[in-house]
Formats: sequence, structure tokens, C-alpha cells
Amino acid sequence: MPELPEVETVRTRLEPALVGRRVQRVEILDPRLTRPLDPAGVAVELEGERIAAVDRRGKYLVVRFESGRVLLIHLRMTGNLLHRPSVADLAADDPHRRAVVSLDDGSDVVYRDVRRFGTWLLVEPEELDPYLAERVGFEPLERGFTTRRLAEALAGRSAPVKAAILDQRRLAGVGNIYADEALWRARIHPRRPAGELAQDEVKALHAGIRRALKAGIERQGATLRDYRTPDGDSGRMQHEFKVYGREGEPCNRCGTPIEKIRAAGRGTWYCPECQRL
Ligand SMILES: [Zn+2]
Repeated sequence: MPELPEVETVRTRLEPALVGRRVQRVEILDPRLTRPLDPAGVAVELEGERIAAVDRRGKYLVVRFESGRVLLIHLRMTGNLLHRPSVADLAADDPHRRAVVSLDDGSDVVYRDVRRFGTWLLVEPEELDPYLAERVGFEPLERGFTTRRLAEALAGRSAPVKAAILDQRRLAGVGNIYADEALWRARIHPRRPAGELAQDEVKALHAGIRRALKAGIERQGATLRDYRTPDGDSGRMQHEFKVYGREGEPCNRCGTPIEKIRAAGRGTWYCPECQRL
């Protein structure tokens, strides 16, 4: 599932292509994308809007229009945004195509989603901040995300540290892959109670989270199955994983075979030597 590095890669690629363009025509082929709202109604509302910015908040893409309205796109499991000079460049019979947005320069943004969990939500200007405030916590790559902020997010929690850093309301954008990668970098066992980490461990985790996310962004994200950049390319981060999906393979630091357990209800990879409970 796309996490912060994948969504940021999509944002970076779409921004120069979309900003300043007017939405000419919108076709929403799957009613699940906009439910409970009628897809045809949302399509009509989008037509004529001019794109002012393409931002990101956690795993949400935030498409801002000059009118002040915002389209919040969440890719969930398998959502994909492709930008093409023309929709004619894509196979017409793609069964996973869910929406097509035609822009005033003749290019198209095509939304694909195999599992169909992705969402498009059009919000009015005053609705945006309250909506995000309820769902999205600290932005880990922003300057304001200090070790102290991370300590606040973990304080008093008896839940496993992995669960705490996956909680989007506290920390935005970290999912299953980058949580495991960050904990390995910080040498912290994923099942350690979040509130019991020592100060130097919180510091190591803070650095680990940022380094893992930046490594992902530098490699255009990780493609395990469905994720593609808007050009249709695969990411390269999957070749650089330290622990994720590497059960039985040697730890890059100590050579001990990586183990797989369940933590925070998720498949979790870690080094039993470097990350002691
Ligand atoms: Zn190790």
C-alpha cells in the first residue's frame, strides 16, 4: 500500500503537470470512489476548476483549486495515478480504470485501482482543516517534527511501538513497510511498549523514521505489486529493504537471519540480534 514516500513521489511528479491547468472533463467510472456522493455530481463539480497546488498530508494527496475547494485523494491499497499526454495512449479495455480527468492542455490523469479501496473526496475550503485534523498527525519530514514531538506521540502508551508509529492520527504517512525499516535503523524491537522507550531510543527512532522515509523518496517509492509513478515506472526502494520481506536473509548489520513475527496485527520483519525485546 502506498505510504508517505510513494504518495510524495506521485505528488512531486504531478505538481508541475497539473498546476495552472483547468479541469475540462471528468469521468468517474466507479461509484465507490466518491461514495456516498453520486460520481456524476462530483464530476460536474470538478469540471471548470483550475488547479492551484498539489500538496500532500500524510498519505493524502491534496489537490487545491483556485476556488479554494480541495480534492482529497487517498490511494489506500492499490490506487494509482498516471499522467499521460493523452488517454488514447492507454489500453481502452483496462478493467481497473476508475476515473479519467482531462485537462485543458490535452493531457489526462487516469486513476487505476485494482482493489477499489481508494477514495476521492471534494471538500469546501472551510472543511479541509477539520477533516485532516481528525485523521492526520505530525508530518515526520517537516522541520517541526522534533524528537520531543515523537516523544509526545509515544508517551503513556502501552501499545507496541510499531502500533504507535502506524497510528496516522499521531504520526502521518508511516505504514507497514517504513515502520519496519525505521525500527531496524533505530535497533528497537517492534513489540516494545511505546511509552517505555528511553530518551536515546526515541532519538534513534526519530532519526530512523526520517532516514527510512527519505530513502524511499530518493528511490521513487517501493513497488511490490501495484504501485507505479505517474509515468508508469516502478519504484526502486524494494531492492533496498533492510528487513521488510527479508525473512531468513542475513541482517545487513550483523548477519543474523531476519525473522518474521506479528506485531500491531501486521506481518513484521526485524533482526532478533540488533532489535532485542
Ligand atoms: Zn542484525
